[in-house]
Amino acid sequence: MWVGALNAHAATSITDQHIADVNNTADWLAYGRNHNEQRYSPLRQIHDGNVSELGVDWFLDLPNDVGLVATPLVIDGVMYFTGSMNVVRAVDARSGKLLWQHDPQVAQEVAGHKLAGWVHNRGLSAYGSKIFAATWDGRLQALDRATGKLLWSVRTFDLADSLYITGAPKAFKGKVLIGNGGTEHGPSRGYVSAYDAETGELAWRFFIVPGNPADGFENPAMEMAAKTWSGEWWEHGGGGNAWHAFTYDAELDQLYIGTGNGSPWNQKLRSPQGGDNLFLCSVVALDPDTGKYLWHYQTVPGETWDYNSNMDIVLADLDLADGPDQGLDQGLDRGPVKALMHAPKNGFFYVLDRRNGKLLSAEKFADVNWATYVDLATGRPVERDGARYEDGSENIYPSPFGAHSWHAMSYNPGTGLVYLPTIHISADFKDEAYDNSWRSVPFEGGTAVDWSQGPNPRAYNGELQAWDPVAQEPVWSVPQDAAWASGTLTTGGNLVFQGEANGMLRGYDAATGKVLWSYDAGLGISAPPITYALDGKQYLSVLVGFGGGFASRLTPGSEGLGWAYGVHTRRLLTFSLDGKSQPAAQPAPHFPPPLVQADFEVDAELAEAGATLYLQKTCYACHGVDVVAGGMAPDLRASAMTLSEMEPFFTNVVRGGERLGRGMPGFPELSDKELEALRHYIRRTAHAAAEAAPGAQ
Ligand code: CA
Repeated sequence: MWVGALNAHAATSITDQHIADVNNTADWLAYGRNHNEQRYSPLRQIHDGNVSELGVDWFLDLPNDVGLVATPLVIDGVMYFTGSMNVVRAVDARSGKLLWQHDPQVAQEVAGHKLAGWVHNRGLSAYGSKIFAATWDGRLQALDRATGKLLWSVRTFDLADSLYITGAPKAFKGKVLIGNGGTEHGPSRGYVSAYDAETGELAWRFFIVPGNPADGFENPAMEMAAKTWSGEWWEHGGGGNAWHAFTYDAELDQLYIGTGNGSPWNQKLRSPQGGDNLFLCSVVALDPDTGKYLWHYQTVPGETWDYNSNMDIVLADLDLADGPDQGLDQGLDRGPVKALMHAPKNGFFYVLDRRNGKLLSAEKFADVNWATYVDLATGRPVERDGARYEDGSENIYPSPFGAHSWHAMSYNPGTGLVYLPTIHISADFKDEAYDNSWRSVPFEGGTAVDWSQGPNPRAYNGELQAWDPVAQEPVWSVPQDAAWASGTLTTGGNLVFQGEANGMLRGYDAATGKVLWSYDAGLGISAPPITYALDGKQYLSVLVGFGGGFASRLTPGSEGLGWAYGVHTRRLLTFSLDGKSQPAAQPAPHFPPPLVQADFEVDAELAEAGATLYLQKTCYACHGVDVVAGGMAPDLRASAMTLSEMEPFFTNVVRGGERLGRGMPGFPELSDKELEALRHYIRRTAHAAAEAAPGAQ
């Protein structure tokens, strides 16, 4: 849709040199700003001495959006970002005026098909004169940057596959790379695909785990990887899905992929005689032109806790001569090194020599009890007995949410520190309910292990840490009540910016962690801030729209924030030192009261069957565990749709997919009795909640 005027400079053809140029402060050309993924801008007009003067310069309300988690791009004075249902928008970066939007019509594309996944998306990629976007349902699309016109669209997986995309594509050297998620939604074999940026033609594909040897191996790397698996792993898919971290190293001309956990999580079922299970939970370096394997480093051999290595991969020159001496007797390099930094779910912060993948250091950045340390001589973690829940129920930390998730870390070459959003949650694992007959069901999935949130290892769930990657220790840290704060931005003004689930956007002194500025956005922030400068003025931008797994209440806590579905306005906020705009105030936090239908008699057996269906059909992934929503979707206990008089409407939505346009998939396979069971389960939870509410009779 064309709704505005062409930007005068919109003809700049983006090259790898542009994306690698750290001194260009006018633009934000890639997911992590530059090819190095540092999320560092040398801009210093806004600095530690004046950040308290920041005000809203312009804003754009997005009333039809839900979860917003994207990093915007800025190119030639235009900002590009993805919203809910993969709608791509271009706005004037000086005013917020909408220039064009592209709606990939996800609901129409998937009509009549099953669907796994999420309505949100983490970002875009730019190359040449194009913007690249990936859709929830598996399409990769090229748009004309000036007009938003669709230039090509390719399907990266079949709609029959229980996969999804939430990540940003990665453009480099005339190609665009994309992976997928879905490890928990069925028997999945992860892969990444690179397409020609001009034509959309498939250039190469790299599978992350080996398939059935009887079918032959795609390449020598798969043959090598197969030696680290046992049993009939291919029946389970194996997993490894790369849904997030892709880094192109413009200096060494290598591509790094952060790979996912096993499918299923439980290695005893996936690969019964053990083995490392390559290339799960690894950083894999590939030839960017051919997709050929170069090297790998595996963070979790034989993973069994969902400890994927999908988290961001940041490149920097580090001088390890300044660091501790623990590597000396292993003959490791001491001195300047082309480093790769990676803080995956498993709680260790890794520094690798990215010329060859050699481990330089690995230290705990959170409480970790699955392994005691990482042996620098072998590069392998030393696990503790019982960690694989081999002797029954076991409390393990980090939890499957990870000590660090997809919320990006940033690196400031000035302070030498990494600003790392950290999560402190443990989990109780047990697998007694599973045996070798277990199989994952497409679109229903499963992990072959039971787990629940365990006792918290600390007094708080979240933390912003400034981590010294040379000394491998924290320099300062700020505890946060709610985990799941946004990714971070750091600048030459000695600043760090981060949004929080409680709605606060804060600016910190990058050296000390002192809070220098806070802004209450009135709605949880999940997307990372960015900065850019136009006409001599520095801007700070962030999408405000509570989103991701915490907003879906995959882990409890978000229901207490009051960001109920459909109440608060999603918006794009941009700040400057002379900003004087006044966005409309957000409604107060809202806690939708459960609806009671006095004449509804809950049938215990039906309600139990409904509880099972609620898990099986992954209703919890949006509506929340135990039917307590966190804001990504309606709280069903408060939804009139579940009352008896609305039964035909309930059927149309749940079975008929009538709300697909809002991200609610249809479940055509559900029988009348199963729909009834779901309603009894939801009514039971609603009545229980109403009775427990303060003031209830
Ligand atoms: Ca996972």
